[in-house]
Amino acid sequence: MIVMKFGGTSVGVPEHFRVAVRLVAQELDQDPVVVVSALSGVTNMLVDFCREPSSRRSLTERLIDRHMSHARAVGVDPGCLSALLDQWRSSSAALTAWGAPLSGDDRDRVLSYGERLSVQLFAAGLRGRGVDAVALVAGDAGFITDARFGAAHPLPETSAELRRNLGKRPPLPVVTGFLGRTQDGHVTTLGRGGSDVSAAVIGAALGAEEIQIWTDTSGLLTADPEIVSEARPVPMLSFAEASELAYFGAKVLHPKSLLPAMEREIPVRVLNTARPSDPGSIITASGAPAEGTWSVKSIASKKGVTAITIASTRMLMAYGFLAKVFEVFGRHHVIVDLVTTSEVSISVTVDDSSHLDKLIAELEAIGRVEVRHDLAVIAVVGEGAPQQVGLAGHVFTLLGGVGIGIEMISQGASRVNLSFVVREEDADRAVRLLHRGLGLDAISEAATAGSVR
Ligand code: ADP
Ligand code: ASP
Ligand code: MG
Repeated sequence: MIVMKFGGTSVGVPEHFRVAVRLVAQELDQDPVVVVSALSGVTNMLVDFCREPSSRRSLTERLIDRHMSHARAVGVDPGCLSALLDQWRSSSAALTAWGAPLSGDDRDRVLSYGERLSVQLFAAGLRGRGVDAVALVAGDAGFITDARFGAAHPLPETSAELRRNLGKRPPLPVVTGFLGRTQDGHVTTLGRGGSDVSAAVIGAALGAEEIQIWTDTSGLLTADPEIVSEARPVPMLSFAEASELAYFGAKVLHPKSLLPAMEREIPVRVLNTARPSDPGSIITASGAPAEGTWSVKSIASKKGVTAITIASTRMLMAYGFLAKVFEVFGRHHVIVDLVTTSEVSISVTVDDSSHLDKLIAELEAIGRVEVRHDLAVIAVVGEGAPQQVGLAGHVFTLLGGVGIGIEMISQGASRVNLSFVVREEDADRAVRLLHRGLGLDAISEAATAGSVR
């Protein structure tokens, strides 16, 4: 069997929605399980609904109109949404009257409406084509998570539950992405962009032959297309390469979506709903060597990064300094991305600077602390790239040539990622310069021209 996941950009545009339904109907012999996201923009609307009590009345109507008009545009009877929209009207009326911002389980219950509505539309679309399909909320299909609302993790029993509930077909299951359920029945969300994780967890549980991520680009590209307009699909990547890219900003895949596939060695294919015959990218255990002079396949970047440097005020060669520093980060649940150390100081980057005050106060008891905001991490990714002779020199010469300063470098810790920190305002310019300077536009264009899915 295969998993076919359609993102918000696929299901939220009427032409693409119709293509998506057709693609599933064409793959029935592959025994697909379909995973869908909310229509594009809908989760953002629901986030605003939670945050701003005064906008609730108008957002409620916009949400209803969006789904009703989408149903009509794709030729689905809007009646398939009636029961859910009634439920939404009454709970949103109560929340509007209540008037306070929502968090925790209340917020996740509101956010769940996006996916719950879109599976109804997609299953109805398939039935309209004569396919016996059923809409399922992930929790009801056995997607059980911990109770970390907003960032829930599937529990180990999820795999067996999903096998039990999704193993027998028909009807073809159309399952909500992004959602789970706690053991005591509260709906949870997996974090923004989490439908990719849903697809991977379901694919791994069912032993899928392939997990297909259908989106609005023809694969994982050589750079973010919003930064580099000439970015091209990378035909083949390894799990390690794709994980680094996802982690450092390639939004097309959620960073947590690769691990379940990697553990079961299930290929992940990234495909374009608007151009379904494009070959896309395939991500496997082995990947393939990069095609050009440099062992680089793609460049990702992550903005909004903060660097914290802690200099030891004690004598040189004091042991336990690093251990003390990391213990503080661990206790405050702050995730560290890049680390560089010298004899007397350590610099780390973090990408969430919202709750750093207490952490910094504690670090100040260990050493002198300096905090720099408005930075960006740039990740130059490819198997063997960090070890390739001359690559680092070439990268930093290119950047130095246009006056882009490097704040921190991390090289050699991984086999696939040369990463460094620049000022946020220089990040896009740096990515564009390296994309050209490492020859990525030329290489991937040639590779794409030669391959057919
Ligand atoms: P979906 O709705 O299908 O989940 P997303 O918006 O989550 O789609 O992800 C697709 C978007 O990711 C693309 O439109 C693109 O703007 C962005 N993106 C960033 N980096 C990359 C990359 N390296 N390759 C492909 N897309 C990327
Ligand atoms: N709808 C959710 C979001 O917008 C999940 C997803 O699209 O993957 O974050
Ligand atoms: Mg996404």
